[in-house]
Formats: sequence, structure tokens, C-alpha cells
Amino acid sequence: MTWSTLIGIRTRLGTKQARRTSVHLVLLIALSAGVAGCMDSDPPKWWKEPNGNSITDSEGLTAATTDQLCTAEEKTPPNDSLRLHFIDVGQGDAIWVQSPTGENVLIDAGDGGYYGRNNGGKIVSAFLSAHGFAQGAVFDAVAVTHAHSDHYGGLPTIFAHYGVAKFIDPGLETDGLSYGDTLETAHAMVRPDSYFRPAINDPGGLTTLKGGSVDLFGPAVGAWLLSAENNMRLGDDNNAKVNNTSLVFKLAYKGRSILLMGDAHAELENELIQRFVTNTSEPNLDANLIKVGHHGSTTSSTGRFLDAIFRNTPAVDRYAVIQSGRTSFGGTQLPEASTIFVLQDAVGQSHLFSTEAGDDKKAEEDAASDDDILAVVKSDGTFYVCYE
Ligand SMILES: [Zn+2]
Repeated sequence: MTWSTLIGIRTRLGTKQARRTSVHLVLLIALSAGVAGCMDSDPPKWWKEPNGNSITDSEGLTAATTDQLCTAEEKTPPNDSLRLHFIDVGQGDAIWVQSPTGENVLIDAGDGGYYGRNNGGKIVSAFLSAHGFAQGAVFDAVAVTHAHSDHYGGLPTIFAHYGVAKFIDPGLETDGLSYGDTLETAHAMVRPDSYFRPAINDPGGLTTLKGGSVDLFGPAVGAWLLSAENNMRLGDDNNAKVNNTSLVFKLAYKGRSILLMGDAHAELENELIQRFVTNTSEPNLDANLIKVGHHGSTTSSTGRFLDAIFRNTPAVDRYAVIQSGRTSFGGTQLPEASTIFVLQDAVGQSHLFSTEAGDDKKAEEDAASDDDILAVVKSDGTFYVCYE
């Protein structure tokens, strides 16, 4: 989004802008203070979408439109395509990457099925089975972006059903014993030189390549680890600081680029701009698709960052994916309406996809597993994104 379109939005919003800004401030302050349950007394928030429709913070992205659904042909791209499946695990992330040369990589596996959350491991396993990746098969790599349970909680189920050749996490251990147990299991499953903690040690070479290329996705795919932290240095509170340790990957194939942000917040987005945006060669931030940071929260996906990653990408080639459920955090529903608005302005309404699309209209038990998103780069450079 350019500053001139921002000004345009402000003009369109007219008198709503002041209120939007103040509500934003309230949200940011509440989120950064980690306050729970204080949002209920706030007035309802209304945002204007670019087309004039209104959405509230109690709603998410509207349900998929027909033209966003994969055709039968799109669902079965050739094997020499790069395929990313953003699996609908409810609240949480789970991304299965199939490379053109046959590598299978899992980045996060959703939550663990406790405290009313979905069991991401079960959902991911069922998805893999339905797509021909049978139980007993071996992942070339499994990555955990950071130490929050909506990312690693599903992994014990994955470990029980699949092999893992390489394992990578940033190197920060927190979030109680369950994360430690998960890492211990991972350690036991892979050879010592295949257990990568790029922010703290380097048995296999990933630390020296942090900020450079990584060989996790096979020889045909360009892959860069743009960020990994083991030290909680960025952000105003513990939640933000852990989110900002996230592994951030950039993948490239046949001239198309994809950014996988983990739960990165604006502080990390700003650092990435400083470090990479002016690079004339890879790694830089140019992207066709962004899996946005932190589930569509206002903590992330700033207009400045979207401007930076899409500055060389024609509007018709821009896509954004949100992985989220309709979980309430301190009274804030993710994804947040204002973030949906910003993303729609950057990529266009039909190019914004979310694993929670329409979930606010569904019964809780029906909200997961039905909004899986497929992104494909074919060997001729054709690129598309659709609901599977
Ligand atoms: Zn998360």
C-alpha cells in the first residue's frame, strides 16, 4: 500500500478515521500489556472495507467466494510444482510444503487439543493421509517457528505417526514443560547433526546461513532463513518477545516468492525491512505471497511492511494468507477486522485467504478443517492460490 492510497483510505473513511485511530491505540495498548478480558466494555468496532461493506471485530473474513475455490485441475498440480498447503487447524499455524523435487517439509502443526483448542496434529495427519502422504512416511524437515502451543502443540501426534529427518526450531525454550518435552522427542528422532537451532548453535551449518540460504526444501527451491532468535529482545511484553523469535522463511521458485512470517510482529517486520529490503539480490523481501505474522492481529502486517514486500510486485500478482481460528485473546478476535482491511487493500479482496473464512457463522466444531488453502507455483512459473 502506498502512502497515497493510505491517504485515499483516510479520505474515504472520513470521520471514522479518528475513532479508528483511537480504537487502534486501545487495542495496541491492551495487547502489548497482555491484559485479558478488558475489551468487552469497548464500543463495537466498525471498519469500512474498500468496497464499502462493513465488518466488525466479531466477524472475520467472509466465507470463500466461488472463484476462490480450487478447480479439480488446480487441486492436483504436477509433481514438479512447488505446493504449499495452509492447513486449517483452527487457531494456529500448520504449513505443509511439497517441493518440486519431492521434499516434504512441515512448518508448525497447530495446537495440542487442550483447553478447548483443536488437536492440530490430528487434523494435519488426516489432511496428509487424504493427500497421499501416508502414516509412516518421513518428513525431510519439520520446523517449529517459535515456542507457542498453537504452533508446536500438534507435533507429538505428528511424531507418533511420521518420521522426521531434520528438525529446526529457533532455539528459545519457554512456554512450560510441554515445549521441552516436544523438543526432547524431536531430539530423540533425528540425528544430532540434523537438529538445527540456528539462533544458538550450528551443528549442520544453519547459523552461518541465518540471513542466507538454507537447504531444507530441495535443490530446485531457493530458501532463505531471514530470521531466528533465541533471545527475547524485541517487543513490549513476553508474548510479543516470543513471537518475535519466529523463524521467518522466504521461498522462491520460477520467479515467484513466498514469505512465511511465523508470528512475527511489527518490530521484527521493521528489522527485516532494515536488513533486506534494499538487497538487489536474494535474500530480499520481494514477495508474491505472504503468510502474515500472528494470525491477522494488529500487532503485525503494517502498511509499511506490506509496501516493502510488494513494492516490486504488480497488484494482480499479490496474495496474502492468514492462518487463524476465531479464538478470543483478551476479548480480541483474530484475525482483526482492521488487519483484514489493510491486507485487502494491499492484495485485493479476492487475493486474501484465511483458514477462518466464515468461521464466525459456523458452529465451533465445524470451524476447523474446512478452509485449507493451496498455493502453487508450477514449473512454467504459473502461480495460483485457492481454497482446497
Ligand atoms: Zn500463534
